Amino acid sequence: MVLADIFCAQRAIRDVAARTPLVKAHGTAGSVDVFLKLEICQPTGAFKIRGAANAVATMTVKQRKAGIICCSTGNHGRAVAYVAAKNGIASTVCVSSLVPQNKVAEISRLGAQVVREGKSQDDAQLNADSIAARTGATPIPPFDHEAVIAGQATIAIELLEEHPDIGEILVPLSGGGLAGGIAFAAKTINPGIRVVGVSMERGAAMHESLLRGRPVEVAEVPTLADSLGGGIGMENKFTFDLCRRYLDATILVSEAEIYAAMRSLFWAEKIVAEGSGAAAYAALNSGKVKPSRTAVAIVSGANVDMDVFSRIVLGEPVTIGDLVVGA
Ligand SMILES: *Cc1c(COP(=O)(O)O)cnc(C)c1O
Repeated sequence: MVLADIFCAQRAIRDVAARTPLVKAHGTAGSVDVFLKLEICQPTGAFKIRGAANAVATMTVKQRKAGIICCSTGNHGRAVAYVAAKNGIASTVCVSSLVPQNKVAEISRLGAQVVREGKSQDDAQLNADSIAARTGATPIPPFDHEAVIAGQATIAIELLEEHPDIGEILVPLSGGGLAGGIAFAAKTINPGIRVVGVSMERGAAMHESLLRGRPVEVAEVPTLADSLGGGIGMENKFTFDLCRRYLDATILVSEAEIYAAMRSLFWAEKIVAEGSGAAAYAALNSGKVKPSRTAVAIVSGANVDMDVFSRIVLGEPVTIGDLVVGA
């Protein structure tokens, strides 16, 4: 990947994905300015529309006829369904049974055929592979794909166009398409920028893989950051390497810190974020990361179950698997 791929992506996705607002956070105390990049303002409520739109833009007419397929914890599936409908092509989305019902319903509403089977993201992936082999549909993976990564990386270009003096970028991290793409683009433009990936303590596959020096599997457990669940793929082609080369650090936030971040984004900033969307902000809000230069937290998605969200806003306890948070 070269920087020009990301500028091409920026052009390719401009009619489908939004150029999202970058707003100053009022609530975060400290000596430096903190900005929030509001990917919650995408038409699908999360940044994944960027990668999906760019991947579809590279497809031939013949490929478009056979449709597209993906597996997803929700937001990627939503993006694929939306982008497919916009381009008049058929889509199939495979999800695991861990994926919340609100996300499944939204994906079907956007026009995709949803296949909900298996206990993990990896099961959903195997399912998608076999359907793709049978139907000839083009798979659009959620992160480990060059056009997808270039699409997500357009966020870095937008940030730096608006604030060329940004010193630190905090990015929610799961498969690493978002963090790897942003880190590559930002560091290629300015090697002095610090880019930090933020994952939840429970099931942080990329963090674990970077520690061990190779892709490893981690147990998938329920978390408020459900969009950050799932492995990085044992055959990872791009994102592991990008994250290893370009991320300065990865840090982990607890369920309680994610809960507190969602609350504080709502009350202090009037922003609705899902757990994964609040993860990067949680690193600042908890004091785990203390930036010394202008910092940006990517607020990556808004697609939260509203029952859970309203409990969190009101400070009521929520049950996450075997854990109760907010009590
Ligand atoms: C997918 C997703 C992420 C993580 O992106 P990766 O490219 O898998 O690291 C973060 N936040 C939200 C809301 C997501 O949907």
